[in-house]
Amino acid sequence: MAKILDGKKLAQTMQAEIAAKAAAFFAKHHMKPGLAAVLVGDDPGSQIYVKNKRLACQKAGIDSWLNALSANTSQVQLLDLVMQLNLDPKVHGILVQLPLPKQIDENAVIRAVSPAKDVDGFGPENLGLLVTGQPRFYPCTPLGVQQLLLRNGIEIEGRHVVIVGRSNIVGKPLALILMQKAVGANATVTVCHSKSRDLADIMRRADILVVAIGQTHFLKADMVKPGAVVVDVGMNRLPDGKPTGDVDFQAVEKVASAITPVPGGVGPMTITMLLHNTLRSARLMVENE
Ligand code: NDP
Repeated sequence: MAKILDGKKLAQTMQAEIAAKAAAFFAKHHMKPGLAAVLVGDDPGSQIYVKNKRLACQKAGIDSWLNALSANTSQVQLLDLVMQLNLDPKVHGILVQLPLPKQIDENAVIRAVSPAKDVDGFGPENLGLLVTGQPRFYPCTPLGVQQLLLRNGIEIEGRHVVIVGRSNIVGKPLALILMQKAVGANATVTVCHSKSRDLADIMRRADILVVAIGQTHFLKADMVKPGAVVVDVGMNRLPDGKPTGDVDFQAVEKVASAITPVPGGVGPMTITMLLHNTLRSARLMVENE
């Protein structure tokens, strides 16, 4: 049976570490790191995500403010708000919860967030810094995956990592992080997508297999090399509303050497890395660390 990579437990440990550092920051500077969340519309999923992120901030001693806008907010109104937050010295991180309503160009909003406050790491400057080996903020979900592997003693260097999914928020930045010439990285990375041929063959060659496509129980046991490490980024809903991943967990855990559950795997790590990036941003701004 595979070892369970418990993201919930690791998130608790890392959030306690972040809380201690945030307290030290407060003792030194008489201010807390601060995260401004922007929520547009009333999508229930987005509301829950933002609520959980703000709750985690509160527990870690990080200020958080909610800017809730109606679903018919215009792009100009949203860009105005982002500009105000860019200029607010109490705000060290800006989180614009995606997706945004149809009338708003998501990329324009991502580009408008000050790169110094882009704690999601989605903007072109931070992604460019990552590509060129000078990272400032790593996108939260991919960073959470790397931490989940490293803090469970799973070696990444020199191993073949196959990532299924090439989105800007998961697959692509994860590939960049794991292929970096750096300690805790140095992997050989293959990225697959919906047009990849012989996908099952490629997946069977992975030492570490990361699936991030958004299709319930896509990954079956016969697509996994015995002893491989399997990371399930997927967050889908079963007909009864229960959350589930992209991996057929019950079958795959019999073949893999280690596996992340859903829920309780990558999800809690994503929130934790948002706190990590917000603290890092405050330190960079205030201490020029
Ligand atoms: P996107 O829809 O943006 O991207 C999905 C990717 O999967 C695309 O690259 C697509 O290929 C590829 N894909 C889709 N179907 C297949 C297939 N049958 N075979 C191979 N590749 C396929 O999704 P996201 O990256 O935003 O999210 C992926 C999943 O991760 C979702 O379930 C999401 O909810 C979850 N997620 C979880 C997070 C967490 O914290 N746990 C955070 C973010 C996302 P192509 O590019 O060719 O279309």
